[in-house]
Amino acid sequence: MPRKEYLAELRQNPEKLKEFKLKQNIYWEKLKNDPVRHEKWKTTHRNERNRHYHKHKQKINEQRKIEYMSLSSGQKKLLIQQRKEYRIKKRQIIIKSWGNKCQNCGYSDYPEILQFDHKIALYRRTNNIKKKVSDHMLSDVIKHPELFQLLCPNCHILKTRREITELWKNKIKK
Ligand SMILES: [Zn+2]
Repeated sequence: MPRKEYLAELRQNPEKLKEFKLKQNIYWEKLKNDPVRHEKWKTTHRNERNRHYHKHKQKINEQRKIEYMSLSSGQKKLLIQQRKEYRIKKRQIIIKSWGNKCQNCGYSDYPEILQFDHKIALYRRTNNIKKKVSDHMLSDVIKHPELFQLLCPNCHILKTRREITELWKNKIKK
């Protein structure tokens, strides 16, 4: 029986549902108490979730492509310009709200060249640190000022260079 139908049947039968929940709780407790199995479960679960996510994203991208192709050339130009303006506006809002200067050296001559830096380093694939907050969403960036900082390009590249060399040192030690 497919899982969806099975769950629908369970919902109509409260006694069976209780039994099912009890069984589930026992399963979870067993899983939590067994760290090896728990780790295994986590990785498989993550892979599955990633697969679903990519499928979903592909669908949306294809839809967007079709919509974009159906536009006239004037509409396309307008859309591109709107996106550009939105990005510039977003940058300006964040830079203004964070004080218009590099938080390391204080550079402030041209605030529009300041860059966003993750205070806690993110290397993604190499060190398995997950991205908790997206830096693309304006609301996220404003809600979590403790995770980001403004740096001038010079300070930013120096900081990331230091972090990368440290990471490699640690890797060689291991
Ligand atoms: Zn700086």
